[in-house]
Amino acid sequence: MKCPQCGRKMKGDWPDKEVYFNCEFCGDRFVIEDDGELVNVFNRGSNNHGTCINCGRSLARGSYTAPWEDGDNSEGFVTCPHCGCYNYK
Ligand SMILES: [Zn+2]
Ligand SMILES: [Zn+2]
Repeated sequence: MKCPQCGRKMKGDWPDKEVYFNCEFCGDRFVIEDDGELVNVFNRGSNNHGTCINCGRSLARGSYTAPWEDGDNSEGFVTCPHCGCYNYK
């Protein structure tokens, strides 16, 4: 996988070498989204879905739980579709 910013070869990285890549030259980290698009992990906060605090992937398909919907959650949260981590809004 080549870096979309500098064109150099990137190394696959934890937790999935087929999905996550680090560019040693730019110092940036990229991930292949479910739709096949390669995106910069650090630039993704700008979309309205946000990214998972745990795995850094898109929360676009996560399920949202409204405040108090579960009985004792005072804040709404999105359940990450990739790792299942709760992301409080
Ligand atoms: Zn690069
Ligand atoms: Zn996650």
